[in-house]
Amino acid sequence: MKKIFFAALTALAVCSCGTSKLASHAPEKVGIVAHRGYWNCPEAGYAQNSVASLRAAQEAGFWGSEFDVQLTKDGIVVSNHDKEYGPEKMVIAEHTYAELTKYTLPNGEKLPTLNDYLEQGAKCPTTMLVLEVKKQSTDEKTIELVDKSMEIVKECGLYDPSRIMFISFSKVACERIIEKHPQFEVQYLLGNISSGKLKARGYTGADYHQALFSIEPSLIKNLHKKGLKANVWTVDKPAKMKKLFAKGVDQITTNAPMAARELLGEREDRK
Ligand code: MG
Repeated sequence: MKKIFFAALTALAVCSCGTSKLASHAPEKVGIVAHRGYWNCPEAGYAQNSVASLRAAQEAGFWGSEFDVQLTKDGIVVSNHDKEYGPEKMVIAEHTYAELTKYTLPNGEKLPTLNDYLEQGAKCPTTMLVLEVKKQSTDEKTIELVDKSMEIVKECGLYDPSRIMFISFSKVACERIIEKHPQFEVQYLLGNISSGKLKARGYTGADYHQALFSIEPSLIKNLHKKGLKANVWTVDKPAKMKKLFAKGVDQITTNAPMAARELLGEREDRK
């Protein structure tokens, strides 16, 4: 994945030669998305992708809370960033949910299923759930993960574009959601599709690595011209946040949401 990502960065660097103007339009408001929940605080027990990290993001009143989903061997959708889980680094796709739960998260929670996670998500209508579909071993498995996730979203009463949106490095995942559930916001993460093509394929925005916004200074302007949102990951340093706020990002995905809040002041988008 890293190789592909940096190849995309290089390609964009080449393509963007000659573009020099910064985006002139800075949106009034910027939404803060807590990356893997608001996990780095005592309330969440410093556990990424935990239900407690989502609850902390909701209680803090951030615009959004991001989390990742994976599929277990027995077809259970769980919230976890890595393909592996626990001290033995058990491969999630090769173990049943019962096997995986022999270990807990660092805060003592059991590994959350998507149902557990969304049960908490449903409690707070003012924090957008930002669900990242992780690429699985095959396209078929990735599609299975999308389809199962959407069924659980429906079961939890969250099949509503004002409550949940989707991001992925996988075009297969994004384009499955666009095809079957076109009313939802879908932002692409990898950075190797032009703004025009994103729009044509039905994406609603780009959630790109911060480096891409320096490599292609007109990126935000180009996205906005097409009516697409500009989200950026994962920005934790205040100096970098400031630059991106000035350039006009719509959302910022960060492990330091309180620092972003302090910098944004009145410009923070809170529902
Ligand atoms: Mg993620």
